[in-house]
Amino acid sequence: MWNGKMKAVTLSYDDGVTQDIRLIELLDRYGLRATFNLNPDRQRAQDIFSKPPITVRHLTMEELPGVYAQHEVAGHTCSHLHLEQADEATVREEIARCRDTLAQRFGREITGMAYPYGTYTDRVVEIAREEGMRYARTCIQTETFAVPTDLMRLPTTCRHANPRLLELARAFVDSEPETPQLFFLWGHSYEFDQFETWPLIEEFCRIVSGREDIFYGTNSEVLLDRP
Ligand SMILES: [Zn+2]
Repeated sequence: MWNGKMKAVTLSYDDGVTQDIRLIELLDRYGLRATFNLNPDRQRAQDIFSKPPITVRHLTMEELPGVYAQHEVAGHTCSHLHLEQADEATVREEIARCRDTLAQRFGREITGMAYPYGTYTDRVVEIAREEGMRYARTCIQTETFAVPTDLMRLPTTCRHANPRLLELARAFVDSEPETPQLFFLWGHSYEFDQFETWPLIEEFCRIVSGREDIFYGTNSEVLLDRP
């Protein structure tokens, strides 16, 4: 229940890439918590792109448990497909096998997911719910701190690439709300290499961390156990 606090911060990062290792080091240093959305069929040693000095590759299935030991993992489908274009059997298989593969790999229950590309239909939402997903993240940025009501069409506050990121972070820290407020950040950690924005995410961490009045939790901790 956010330990009785009115504000919470959570992060959601997609695709299970090697840059997550550096991101997690940063989050752990500042006491922030995150959920990482993984694609079991793509978690093998294969570059997504390589443009020296930047290489982006997925973490392998063997690497996953060590990297994400202290954070939540969630589904992102097995193959990162456009769910809104797939037939129902494929949607169900992609969500269910992803859940089962990650559950087995981590020895944990998988209760959430992020829609690849942020796209879905009402039927996709229904199937995700039937397959045990209790929340499912979109790519919508509200630029607000409203606690989401529709957890299966979960909006975010913003991406880290949003030009208002630090302004929103400062406004959140300064606020003294009487009702629960959530800062929900999402992105891809390889963008920090790609666009040289590691200092930006560190500045975000510095601004929002270490506050007595803020609860720091994974997606499921802030969404499923809230005031
Ligand atoms: Zn993705």
